[in-house]
Amino acid sequence: MKSIASLVTSPAVVDAMGSFETHHENIVNLAIAVQQIPAPTGDEEQRARFVHDNFKQLGLTNVSMDEIFNVYGCIEGRNPTLFPVIISAHSDTVFPHETDLKVRREGNLVHGVGIGDNSMGVAGLLTLAGTMQRYQLRPERTVWFVCNVGEEGLGDLRGMRAAVDRFGKAHGYIVLEGGMYGFILHEGIGVRRYEVSVEADGGHSWSDFGRSNAIHVLSQIITQIDKIRVPKSPKTTYNVGIIEGGTSINTIASTASFQLDLRSEDVTGLNQLINQVETIISKTQRRYTDVTVQTKVIGDRPTGQISAREPLVRLADEALRAVGCRKIQYLRGSTDANIPLSRGYPAVCIGIVRSANAHRLDEYLDTRELARGMQQVLLLVLGSAEFGQ
Ligand SMILES: [Zn+2]
Repeated sequence: MKSIASLVTSPAVVDAMGSFETHHENIVNLAIAVQQIPAPTGDEEQRARFVHDNFKQLGLTNVSMDEIFNVYGCIEGRNPTLFPVIISAHSDTVFPHETDLKVRREGNLVHGVGIGDNSMGVAGLLTLAGTMQRYQLRPERTVWFVCNVGEEGLGDLRGMRAAVDRFGKAHGYIVLEGGMYGFILHEGIGVRRYEVSVEADGGHSWSDFGRSNAIHVLSQIITQIDKIRVPKSPKTTYNVGIIEGGTSINTIASTASFQLDLRSEDVTGLNQLINQVETIISKTQRRYTDVTVQTKVIGDRPTGQISAREPLVRLADEALRAVGCRKIQYLRGSTDANIPLSRGYPAVCIGIVRSANAHRLDEYLDTRELARGMQQVLLLVLGSAEFGQ
């Protein structure tokens, strides 16, 4: 790792950092161009092709797109035998195809679904690659640029899993989240997701009254989950996010299902919660002999962390301070960084601008920190890839 102080004395690095100020508007427009391409989780191909074409145009080496639509390209290091640095941004969004992608600008603000999470991350990845090429910034280590699928929703981090399967041990994994400027995440939280479904015989609400109703049984399970007392520390949470079922108002429901998301900062906390939920479900199953309750794991994000004293985390902190970020916040979360962290590889997740209302239709970002955010990304990548003599 190179110290940030030694990097900012290099004229090429100083010029590259200045370019983020002169190209401010281009970067915003690039983020909007990315945002205009729908990319719901599981359907990222169109956005992946856009990134693939850009990687090619920028003259990256070994540009490829795999069968799940992860896009890869690299800038070869001066010493390609060293472990590389991987920088990634997820391409997918939580919004379905039919979502209105209209963008509205208002002073420093850009309103639009998925603009911060993660169109700005993808734009940042492309901008970084372009800048390193333009200013011929060749570090010791190879830098791989990865635009991966499957971070959101039920993607279960499959894009990042494939990337980490491909690269294995790396000197550092740097994950870009467009809207997280000022944050450093180096501790992943564990997530387990279930789909719980209830099946019953059903029937007429009047003539078959007395038979078990799948919706009623399902509601009881949810009511009991809602009574689970979870610790504040380690923070542990549950959420029923989707519920479906029934046929008509006067039919005893024969099917009903819900999706449940369980999270904890720590493995034991998560396992305890999983046990409590599983007990509730098996008790309910025993109580109602005329229904079938089935559970299916639909998501499993492993936990992992590195210490704040790890060189990569310290470098991330140093990079933010070097660009004048006054408030650096350490955060735990469930991001693509969970995958390398769970396998024991150093990883951090960082941001580019500030944003609000991610995963909502009124999402927006603030472009004021954009140049600083990009400068920070550049410094961190060059520092960890050991730019300089
Ligand atoms: Zn994201």
